[in-house]
Amino acid sequence: MSAFDPAVFSRNSRFEIDHLTIGGIAASDLAEQFGTPLFVVDEADFKERAASWKSALESAFGENAGSVYYAAKSFISKEIARWVDVVGIGLDVCSGGELAVAEAVNFPAEKIELHGNNKSESEIRQAISYGVKTIVVDSFAEIERVERIAKESGKVQRVLIRVTPGVEAHTHEFISTAHEDVKFGFSLASGAAWDAIAAIRNEPALQLVGLHSHIGSQIFQSEGFAAAAGKLIGLLARYRDTYGQELPELDLGGGYGIAYIPGENTLDPFEVLKELAVVVTSECERAKIAVPQISIEPGRAIVGPTTTTLYTVGTTKEVALDEGLSRRYVAVDGGMSDNIRPALYGAEYLAIIANRLPLGPTCNTRIVGKHCESGDILIREINLSADVAPGDLLAIPATGAYGRSMASNYNHLPRPAVIAVSSGVARIIVRRELIADLLALEI
Ligand SMILES: *Cc1c(COP(=O)(O)O)cnc(C)c1O
Repeated sequence: MSAFDPAVFSRNSRFEIDHLTIGGIAASDLAEQFGTPLFVVDEADFKERAASWKSALESAFGENAGSVYYAAKSFISKEIARWVDVVGIGLDVCSGGELAVAEAVNFPAEKIELHGNNKSESEIRQAISYGVKTIVVDSFAEIERVERIAKESGKVQRVLIRVTPGVEAHTHEFISTAHEDVKFGFSLASGAAWDAIAAIRNEPALQLVGLHSHIGSQIFQSEGFAAAAGKLIGLLARYRDTYGQELPELDLGGGYGIAYIPGENTLDPFEVLKELAVVVTSECERAKIAVPQISIEPGRAIVGPTTTTLYTVGTTKEVALDEGLSRRYVAVDGGMSDNIRPALYGAEYLAIIANRLPLGPTCNTRIVGKHCESGDILIREINLSADVAPGDLLAIPATGAYGRSMASNYNHLPRPAVIAVSSGVARIIVRRELIADLLALEI
């Protein structure tokens, strides 16, 4: 059923009598002023969520709390990077482009981690010259590259080893990354992770500070994180046994699940990190090593719930199904170019009519985009008010992560603007792309 549900909209969203407001502004006013499709970020919600992951890490791990790194790939812009900095957490980037956004706002280099399974020489050079705190190395070829570039630059680069711990998160296959048959990291089971340790120890331009794992995304059970932590702690113990020293850092990545549709759960940062701390502490005791500094990298769990996409309905169509049933197709002015997740992962979303109170009965509805692709579906099946009509405004909540950041120009659609709303004020943080921007690339 399609109704406003505070559990999946950003914290400062309300349905006031007959319309949706976000950050104190009517969605229809935002649509009129900025056009649609439009990403609307609830600024206070973003900052609160970022801050609560920070306090949750500190309260769970105390003096052993490392850093929270916001995963830039979920969505980054200069303004978002400024908010991340204001809240006082770090940034995890995985390309030269994401790093460039951080550099553009002078994001503190000592709070940046660089990831990626195929970092180019120029990305490594960019990161080392900016002075990023940590590079998470992902392959033997890369160990050699980072070492060479660090040496050329006269620096000693701190590195973590990305370990594939062989823990399968209970999530969709395409977004799980830690079983062994994946492109990321050094396998624990094959011994590659152990060999990577030895390779790095041989390089004076590299300082090995610890291990990293990221077991997947949209995970709801803390068991996955705990199992990965247990395996990595085993490797830390073997390191201590072999080399007589302890590695000081353990980064357990991101992947914390959020609610997209009513009834889904959102992982509470305080609960999940407390559970994790219990496991980490007991595993370290068992392995007789000191608890390392624990860091995490939530992306979706910070930005996902803060953003709502507004679309304008363009056409509706009744399509007959078998057995006398029918389906209403409601087409909006965006689609797979601004939200690829339904097509890519079968992700589910809620939509509501944002500009008025729906009247009358609901019907079986499919919400689709405007692209030349049958798979261009935003919501496969939803009971939407049967009176939805061209000109209506639809709001889809929880689109902050992997929406705008994965947006494409398919069919030469310009990518939507992103606006921030806070206490009744709306401002553009990423302007809408223009057809002229697209044509400017062409000869
Ligand atoms: C994708 C990713 C994250 C963030 O994942 P979320 O599901 O958005 O929390 C963190 N760390 C690494 C290494 C990643 O690849």
